Amino acid sequence: MIITIDGPAAAGKGTLAGILAQKYKLAYFDTGMVYRAVGLEMVLAGQDIGDENLAEAVAQKLTFPQMMELSKHRDFRSNVGGQAASVVSAHPRVRAALLKMQQDFACNPVFADGTPAQGAIYDGRDTGTVVCPQADVKFFITATPEVRAMRRFKEFEAKGMRTSFETVLEDMRIRDERDSKRAAAPMKPAADAIIFDTSDLSIDEVVEKACKIIENRQKNS
Ligand code: C5P
Repeated sequence: MIITIDGPAAAGKGTLAGILAQKYKLAYFDTGMVYRAVGLEMVLAGQDIGDENLAEAVAQKLTFPQMMELSKHRDFRSNVGGQAASVVSAHPRVRAALLKMQQDFACNPVFADGTPAQGAIYDGRDTGTVVCPQADVKFFITATPEVRAMRRFKEFEAKGMRTSFETVLEDMRIRDERDSKRAAAPMKPAADAIIFDTSDLSIDEVVEKACKIIENRQKNS
């Protein structure tokens, strides 16, 4: 089984994906990591993230182990990492260079310890439209910018990362705009995606709705 979860930052994709991955024993691919890795690698090397040629070269060389190593850096999940990812992900040749790595995972899904899994769950912006258009179940998760910014602000606070709610909200608005307006694979729900607005839903309610849909699909397949 392949499940995709797309949507804007801090809509609840990662939390939902993690719970569903455990429940249905699926390997999990957080596709934002590939763009964060390319963006952060360039920032750390002092390179211009707006330069598509340079970004493409970094993307072509990116390996899974290198991405995992970069993910330990404190800026991987910060506003710095998020903005850099958003800029490099708007380059069409960067997306093309990173597509195969993402698609291969659906053919050979593995858990974090390397053991094979029976299926995969993806989260990102274009996983239901571009990476895995053949997915069995597609979700598009969203929430208002204010609700999402508050969730992200609390996550940053819990990790001891100092920032303000206003900065996080502004960062989110810029990223949403860039992600949904870019020419290459803009963020949008797949035609066959199920859309959830999680602004007024608890995580348990979102999980319950998603599980009903998945189990119905399983019965009817
Ligand atoms: O999901 P996350 O916040 O980690 O993603 C970081 C950035 O990577 C997003 O703002 C988006 O620009 C980009 N991204 C993308 N396509 C994906 C996943 C992430 O363009 N499938």
